[in-house]
Amino acid sequence: MSAIQLTGVEKVYKGRVHALRGVDLTVHPGEIFGLLGPNGAGKSTLVKILMTVIRPTKCQGTVLGNPVGDRQTLARIGYLPEHHRFPGYLKGRQVLEFFAAMSGVPRQTRRKRSSQLLELVGMSEWADKKVGGYSKGMRQRVGIAQALMNNPDLVLLDEPTDGVDPVGRREIRTILARMKDEGRAVFLNSHLLSELEMVCDRVAIMVQGKVLRQGTIEELTEGKRGYAISGAEPFTEEHHTLIRSVTDGLEVTFESHRTTVLTSDPARIQPVIDALRARGVVLAAVNPMRPTLEDLFMETVASDASHGRPGAARKGVRP
Ligand code: ADP
Repeated sequence: MSAIQLTGVEKVYKGRVHALRGVDLTVHPGEIFGLLGPNGAGKSTLVKILMTVIRPTKCQGTVLGNPVGDRQTLARIGYLPEHHRFPGYLKGRQVLEFFAAMSGVPRQTRRKRSSQLLELVGMSEWADKKVGGYSKGMRQRVGIAQALMNNPDLVLLDEPTDGVDPVGRREIRTILARMKDEGRAVFLNSHLLSELEMVCDRVAIMVQGKVLRQGTIEELTEGKRGYAISGAEPFTEEHHTLIRSVTDGLEVTFESHRTTVLTSDPARIQPVIDALRARGVVLAAVNPMRPTLEDLFMETVASDASHGRPGAARKGVRP
């Protein structure tokens, strides 16, 4: 059973803004899944449909095995909305207990879990201070704790590290990993690509209301991975010819001290190492190389733009 399985989700706002244009998406149980896309791609719209905050124009699919919008299933989902505003007069602990009450968590459990979760997100000392006095990062931490109060099987986090400093972001990554270890599926929206790359098992790239690519980073970089062989001295023309003669038509690029061979099979680069070593070349490093999530993202956005929607290109340049 998938944590989330969607087919052909569409949303048209006010009869004219096509925010989602047929989204197909699968999130497996127990994985951290990242949805990335430029501003306005439709990420929040999708999460809001899953949480029944807004109505889809068209939606087929399941969440935790039940139809999207099933009320009992909603109680098993944790949700951190984008731009959330907790009432400033509530204390951190009260926020947690209030939202847990709305999910039907019994009073005794609320007390215990709120202390545990405030500890988890590093907010114990601030538990009895009013949210109105918190920084943005502190509000995000409380928001993440809030999303775990109902002990959810699936956690939807919309820009969880928004406004959080680098130390806090690292701590949040640890918390996400822990959610996964506890067997929860985590679905997160973010425009911070390097961050998603560090935590996600699988990602989907959404552009202009459509998921253009999804899979593990390994899958998405298939055919684009390679090995960089670095020499202690710059490679010469003679070395280049030698390398070409043992790489059997693989794509090879040369820089001064570095040669990159496009293959994900380590066996294919051994002849290069052997040939260079036989000529007495001192090698400084051999490193696997793969495109970053940012490379993939830019390529996807650019290819979408070249398929005839010029607006997509400009919007997509800055994720
Ligand atoms: P993202 O979360 O990827 O930034 P959104 O889901 O917020 O994208 O928005 C997708 C598109 O839908 C955008 O063009 C946005 O302007 C539009 N949109 C979002 N909410 C509304 C709304 N309530 N009414 C009209 N248009 C909306």
